Amino acid sequence: MSALFCMKCGHGLEWRTVDGTLRQACPACNFVHWGDFSIGVGALVLRDGALLLVRRKQDPGKGLWTNPGGYAEQAEPLSETVVREVYEETGIRAMAREIVAVRDLTRSVHNLYVVFAMDYVEGTATPDGVEVDDAGFFTPQQMADMPVAGLTRWLVDVAWSREGPGLRPDHHEHVNAQHNELYRSWQRDYPE
Ligand SMILES: [Zn+2]
Repeated sequence: MSALFCMKCGHGLEWRTVDGTLRQACPACNFVHWGDFSIGVGALVLRDGALLLVRRKQDPGKGLWTNPGGYAEQAEPLSETVVREVYEETGIRAMAREIVAVRDLTRSVHNLYVVFAMDYVEGTATPDGVEVDDAGFFTPQQMADMPVAGLTRWLVDVAWSREGPGLRPDHHEHVNAQHNELYRSWQRDYPE
C-alpha cells in the first residue's frame, strides 16, 4: 500500500531512499512511511481433549472453522487481546498461558500472527452471531469431517503434538518495565 499525505503534517509525501530502501517520506517534517504492519493473535483453548473452534460468518473464510482470534489494538498487550477475542467470539473465559506458534506473513500488509495456548476457565461456547455463527469444542476425530481452515489444521497439529512448554511470560519485576511484556523459553529452575 502507498500513502499520499503525511500522517503528521499533511504535506504530500515523496519517494526517497531512507536506510538504503526507497520509501515514502515527508519533505516537510521527519515522517517516514516505514510500511504497513498488523498483529493478529490466535487462541488454542483446550478442554477435556477438545479444542475450541468457531465458524466464520464473514469473509475471508466464510463457512470455515477456525480457532478464535483477531487483531491487536494499539495499546493492548497480546495476552489481553487473545482473552478479549475468545470472549467476544464465544463467551468463553480463558487465560493465556504461553505462546506456542507464530506465523510471519509478508504481503501488502506484513502480518505477525501470534498463537497462544490457553486454559479454559468458564463459560459455554456461544457464537457472537456477528463474526462467527457457531462455536464449540471439537476433538481431532470430529474435525476430520469439518471444513477446517488450513492454518487452523496446522495449529490443531501444534496443539496436539507439541512437547514441552512454549514461550512463557516472565513476570519478574526486574526485567519488566511499563508497556513491556517479555516471553521466554522454559528454563530449568526458573521460578514461575
Ligand atoms: Zn510531514
